[in-house]
Amino acid sequence: MSTILFEQIVFGPIHSRRLGSSLGVNLLPLHGKWCSFDCIYCECGWNKDGRKDHQLHDVEDIKAALTTRLKSLKENGTVINSITFSGNGEPTMHPHFPEIIDTTIRLRDELYPDAKISVLSNATQIRNDKVRDALLRVDNPILKIDSAIEDIVNWINKPQPGYSLSETIERLKQMSGKYILQTMFLKGSNDGRYVDCTSEENAKAWQDLVREIRPRSVMMYTIDRETPAKDLQKVTVEEMEKIAAPLRAEGFEIQIRG
Ligand code: SF4
Repeated sequence: MSTILFEQIVFGPIHSRRLGSSLGVNLLPLHGKWCSFDCIYCECGWNKDGRKDHQLHDVEDIKAALTTRLKSLKENGTVINSITFSGNGEPTMHPHFPEIIDTTIRLRDELYPDAKISVLSNATQIRNDKVRDALLRVDNPILKIDSAIEDIVNWINKPQPGYSLSETIERLKQMSGKYILQTMFLKGSNDGRYVDCTSEENAKAWQDLVREIRPRSVMMYTIDRETPAKDLQKVTVEEMEKIAAPLRAEGFEIQIRG
């Protein structure tokens, strides 16, 4: 498959439908993937194929790369709506993630005061208070829960041993709705099992989860590019609309990306 790896610490800005002009920050290895999940749909490919590069960026290199790029973009008059942490895996796994966020906030306030700071995260590290608090300091912590059913999470996300969906849900509840929930919907076969994320059982469990954790808003999306698991299909916008409808009627703000 063609995987997408970001071979720079700071990349873009790229246009994001969700975030506008988005300057990406990749805290993970430049030539490999590093993540606590191994999602069957991950655009970076399987973890096992990205393990040749374990080199995490030094904090000072990250600060220097971000400072240089933001200054040069400002000099050129480039608009940036979001400074977005994503890249080749899970950004909160960088051991200096909280410090990097504080530096980014300082730089943003100085150079791009109107830009938001966004973090795309699989929420596995919110059990660490320092990571959770850093996520609460950014404008858009976008946290992934792909299903409220544990064996579907195991099928779709392949978490590392020690991950607990119920613990993650409890931690999310303690964040008092100050985050955006992101959920992937797909259907297809992998590991000899067929799953349809739009099934009545999964949809109902997910709706109940949203009611329980009450995020600030919700992003529903489906696969967009080639996936490491070969037998997966997109779901339709109409299928996601149907799942979103009762929640919208209850006042939840939901974006859908087909
Ligand atoms: S959490 Fe994100 S980076 Fe990690 S495996 Fe899943 S899609 Fe890939």
